[in-house]
Amino acid sequence: SRPDRTTTLAHLHAEIVRRNPAEPEFHQAAREVLDSLGPALAARSEYRDPGLVERLIEPERQIIFRVPWQDDQGCVHVNRGFRIEYNSALGPYKGGLRFHPSVNLGIVKFLGFEQVFKNALTGLGIGGGKGGSDFDPQGRSDAEVMRFCQSFMTELYRHIGEYTDVPAGDIGVGAREIGYLFGQYRRITNRWEGGVLTGKRAGWGGSLIRPEATGYGNVLFAEAMLRERGEDLEGQTAVVSGSGNVAIHTIQKLIALGANPVTCSDSSGYVVDEKGIDLGLLCQVKEVERGRVSTYAERRGSSARFVPGGRVWEVPADIALPSATQNELDEDAAATLIRNGVKAVSEGANMPTTPKAVQLLQRAGVAFGPGKAANAGGVAVSALEMTQNASRTTWKADQVENELARIMTDIHRTCAETAERYGAPGDYVTGANIAGFERVADAVLAQGVI
Ligand code: GLU
Repeated sequence: SRPDRTTTLAHLHAEIVRRNPAEPEFHQAAREVLDSLGPALAARSEYRDPGLVERLIEPERQIIFRVPWQDDQGCVHVNRGFRIEYNSALGPYKGGLRFHPSVNLGIVKFLGFEQVFKNALTGLGIGGGKGGSDFDPQGRSDAEVMRFCQSFMTELYRHIGEYTDVPAGDIGVGAREIGYLFGQYRRITNRWEGGVLTGKRAGWGGSLIRPEATGYGNVLFAEAMLRERGEDLEGQTAVVSGSGNVAIHTIQKLIALGANPVTCSDSSGYVVDEKGIDLGLLCQVKEVERGRVSTYAERRGSSARFVPGGRVWEVPADIALPSATQNELDEDAAATLIRNGVKAVSEGANMPTTPKAVQLLQRAGVAFGPGKAANAGGVAVSALEMTQNASRTTWKADQVENELARIMTDIHRTCAETAERYGAPGDYVTGANIAGFERVADAVLAQGVI
């Protein structure tokens, strides 16, 4: 006879750790989802089918490759490239590329795993995948970044395509890198295949609002959570971590909706600006000059100060939007936020909050928006970019933004209703995990054992 479902889930945890050694972030992401699934498995017998959850845990394909490139002095470097094609039951593999020295197999697998459920939540017919490299773009010239991207694509091209696998950006990969990657793909394949990459620049197949989408979407998700409690963003003080694409557009949308974002950060520390972050100055320092946030504080004058080595969570705020990287908001940070009266935490980054911090926040009654729901606006607009490419049209900014708002409202409602249905009202983690799981699981089951 079959083991009961709890034995099965506990057994799965142990199997994941045994079969994927030394991948703590992957174990963490998988465990968090499995911990939510008990009620769904209890409710539907087909979900207890041994081999269903196992097939969601095991990526369909894992590609690891060598990326050799020459720096400006002619010296050869060798990096490692990854693409995890995780699950394609709902559509072509879809997910970003991360270029950062911390990238390894476990990181890419955790990101790919999260992406499967996130993409399912968008309802837009995209499977999940992720890729990247341990290449460090910091301090590299344009020419070096171009040669690296060309070498990376020289291997990656054989694995991707508009109906197969559609990469985009993530940390360290923006419109510049997507441009170099697209150019090399076009040259090698002799195909102008717009839908093979998203995050392209507007003017040659990119979608308007794609750069803004992750940050905008996260602010809309935070607003939707606040509305459930009879509040809105007007006048709320916000702490934002990070200073990349997600953080910048989070700050922009917060300001537009009447909130007051007072922080941003990078790996060297954070800036707190009591007058609120000056978006123009931040964009000049980060996007034009590719500089550090300490420069922002130097130029801003007396309202701002740079705190070397510190974390934004020590600044009192009504809402917190972690928008830098995984596990940046730990138990201590959560305790500090709670002590300072935080009402909502919404994840712009992927898995920025540690499991213990999530537990603390939820127990304290703080509204918590998990990344796979809250930051899904980025990949959702990527899917809209694919739609535009396939139909050879370009939408106006308004049209994209309206669609983004509709999708975020829809994701919020889906998570809230699913949580309610499984007896966990207000628990967006349970809601997102079960709702994403149901969509992928139903497609996997319907398509047979493959
Ligand atoms: N890297 C983003 C994410 O984590 C976007 C992926 C995409 O647009 O494909 O969802």
